[in-house]
Amino acid sequence: MRTKKIGVLALQGSVEEHLHTLSQIEDAEGFPVRTKEELSHAEAIILPGGESTTLRKLLREFDLEDPLRRRITDGMPVWGTCAGMILLAREVEGGESTLSVMDISVRRNAYGRQSDSFSAEAVIPEVSPSDPLRLVFIRAPWVERVWGGAHILCEVDGHIAAVRQHNILATSFHPELTNSTAFHRYFLSLLP
Ligand code: GLN
Repeated sequence: MRTKKIGVLALQGSVEEHLHTLSQIEDAEGFPVRTKEELSHAEAIILPGGESTTLRKLLREFDLEDPLRRRITDGMPVWGTCAGMILLAREVEGGESTLSVMDISVRRNAYGRQSDSFSAEAVIPEVSPSDPLRLVFIRAPWVERVWGGAHILCEVDGHIAAVRQHNILATSFHPELTNSTAFHRYFLSLLP
């Protein structure tokens, strides 16, 4: 079995949790990415949750913004969770976009008006057709609309919470904070 080398952007946020989940998957090797050199070794990358405004600043300080955007537009699989999803969006309502690679418009801290943090359960046919997954939301954004190549994977309470566009995956929730490896395995299936 081929080992897939999965980078986790390690500037801020829930990095360890993603690395821990990847360590439970036989054909995955997760490692932190802080430099262009490390990025060049990644076959795919996860952009973790954290604080999107801080992450945007750090991406620029570490000179990673342009190389990362280039790898994504060249087809490298990327998965943004929560703040990571905000970094991928072409539009951020009332805010600035960063990588601008995904045909989605997001609203930051959107569920905050209902409750700051909560969990829900959903069956996401493309990811786990038979078992419901636990979805953990922490000051999460939601997706206001999708267009172009983006398609909706899951809605929670009438709001779009997971989207896929070819090599790009985005979730407003945190699969790395649950015991399930289903979402990480689904992400690995985007690799050749
Ligand atoms: N509220 C954060 C932001 O807007 C995202 C929260 C998270 O990643 N858990 O960047």
